[in-house]
Amino acid sequence: TIGMLCIDSKGDISGACTTSGLSYKMNGRVGDSPIIGSGLFLDNEVGGAVATGMGEAIMKNVSSFLVVELMRQGKPPQESCEIAIKRIIAGSPNHKDFQAAVIAVNKKGEVGSYCIQEGFSYMKYHGGKNVNFSSDFYL
Ligand code: ASP
Repeated sequence: TIGMLCIDSKGDISGACTTSGLSYKMNGRVGDSPIIGSGLFLDNEVGGAVATGMGEAIMKNVSSFLVVELMRQGKPPQESCEIAIKRIIAGSPNHKDFQAAVIAVNKKGEVGSYCIQEGFSYMKYHGGKNVNFSSDFYL
């Protein structure tokens, strides 16, 4: 999955999400990426979030929507991402067997990310510079 969130100089937020899906997926499977609220959710009043990883777990928890709703309640992007991933973990006894990750940006341009397993990285572009981050993780 490639997920992207943008905030322009006026503070308007946009995002995109694209994927080839999971390896060996069943013919006709639809993952989280094209489902608004699961793989991607934006509210220009609040912020945006995108997800990658095991689409079934992300869809079950409507994870991108959850991240944005947590930010709406005033939580920073990092904490919002952590809560959303821990929600997946709490409902998935097999969470050690898959990855799920979310990134988020709020109206102030603050970013956050969290994932189940070590090894998810993302990039922030701002002011002509790219900065790479290794996401915080649960396991
Ligand atoms: N989230 C995608 C899916 O389940 C897979 C991925 O992130 O690579 O279809």
